[in-house]
Amino acid sequence: MAIHFDLLAIGAGSGGLSVVERAAAHGARCAIVEPDRLGGTCVNRGCVPKKILWYGASLAHSLREAGDYGFSLTTGKFDWQRLKTVRDAYIGDIRGWYGDSLADAGIEKITGSARITSAHTVAVGKQSYSAEHIVIASGSSPFVPEIPGSELGITSDGFFGIDRCPQRVALVGGGYIAVEIACMLRAYGAEVTLILRGSQLLRNFDNMLREVLLEEMLDNGINILSSLQVQRVRETKAGEKSLSCNTGLELGGFDLLLWAMGRTPNTAGLGLDSVGVEVRDDGHILTDDYQNTNVPGIYAIGDVTGRFPLTPVAVAAGRRLADRLFGGMPDRHLQYQNIPTVVFSHPPVGSVGMTEAEARERHGKAVKIYQSRFSPMYAVPLKHGRKSAMKLVTVGTDERIAGCHVIGPGADEMLQGFAVALRMGATKADFDDTVAIHPTSAEELVTMK
Ligand code: NDP
Repeated sequence: MAIHFDLLAIGAGSGGLSVVERAAAHGARCAIVEPDRLGGTCVNRGCVPKKILWYGASLAHSLREAGDYGFSLTTGKFDWQRLKTVRDAYIGDIRGWYGDSLADAGIEKITGSARITSAHTVAVGKQSYSAEHIVIASGSSPFVPEIPGSELGITSDGFFGIDRCPQRVALVGGGYIAVEIACMLRAYGAEVTLILRGSQLLRNFDNMLREVLLEEMLDNGINILSSLQVQRVRETKAGEKSLSCNTGLELGGFDLLLWAMGRTPNTAGLGLDSVGVEVRDDGHILTDDYQNTNVPGIYAIGDVTGRFPLTPVAVAAGRRLADRLFGGMPDRHLQYQNIPTVVFSHPPVGSVGMTEAEARERHGKAVKIYQSRFSPMYAVPLKHGRKSAMKLVTVGTDERIAGCHVIGPGADEMLQGFAVALRMGATKADFDDTVAIHPTSAEELVTMK
């Protein structure tokens, strides 16, 4: 006999955990189905382990720069394994915390893979469950190209398992993951080659950010090859990977090859066809503004929908959905605009709202741009300079801020507050009326002429 719940979530990553926790807080009887560990990509193979490595890489930069600030330091060898142990223990603590909070909230954790059998029923192994509401939050997985030898490369999933810092690395892709890992590994001393199929890093970001990031990555000694497609991978007896490219170029001697070419939605085995849940051409589940799929009673949130595949977006969508279904807020839903995002490169990149190109396409001559490129004060004593750049995209006669883009030290922490300002409809005059904090880089954003 089926065990009944008010809401059953498929996937215990950021989205699934958020929807059940909020629904349970509203008094709903909830269950969450997960074949793997709690926490999903963000906790186990993404944001969390990445950010610890990013802090380490930032420290590596600081140690190199300490001499310019007058310190005479002798640093020993970097112990990757030690950092990994601390990092993995922290991730274990987060998982433990999630487990406790599910138990405290009376949420049933079901281990296994879920298959939707009707609009209100799910099977996990031989057991059936029924639910008023089924939320698909099964996430996404790294894409691996179908070329000979592709299995010789790893993806971000495997990256966090490696137990020593690679020496010579090839990264294929130019998005968030490729850029972040390239910058981190370079800071730890690896020789890094980034292979782009086109000519641009971070294609959907503002042009200014891309230009400055490219200069900084090249300055940091990252080898960036553009307009190149890897067609075949081979491995020598010593375990070195070599890549044959479409132009005839052969690249060799890599001890690590990493594919960072985007992600594909985890929908296989969910039974979407049998219940008629519609997916887009790229396989992502189609949802409306309220996270509804085309099948009443079935919803989707997070990466599996392909809409801003970022942890906080999945969390926000999940919580709002639970508020709508159980919290007496019938219109509550996530608006997918002005979503801030940070790329944890070195230097970091932060962006919210429209890029200049998007604004010009949508608003033409009503767009006015304010921008500034400068060397942050931190770089004054440094032999090897650092760059910062900022841009405000404004629209209309009242110069409403439609986009805010920052690259440089501190950009990652700077952007959150400016995202609030954009959400509240701030204008350039509001920025100008705000007293600057001096001396900071952020003050540039309220003093631009
Ligand atoms: P992205 O979508 O960011 O970038 C994909 C990259 O792969 C692009 O540069 C794209 O090139 C390239 N690519 C796609 N197909 C091919 C191909 N056939 N051959 C060569 N290159 C190809 O994906 P990521 O995998 O980097 O990251 C996945 C998602 O995870 C991100 O979109 C982001 O939402 C999330 N993420 C967020 C982070 C954060 O918030 N800091 C950190 C890491 C991930 P092109 O530009 O030419 O299309």
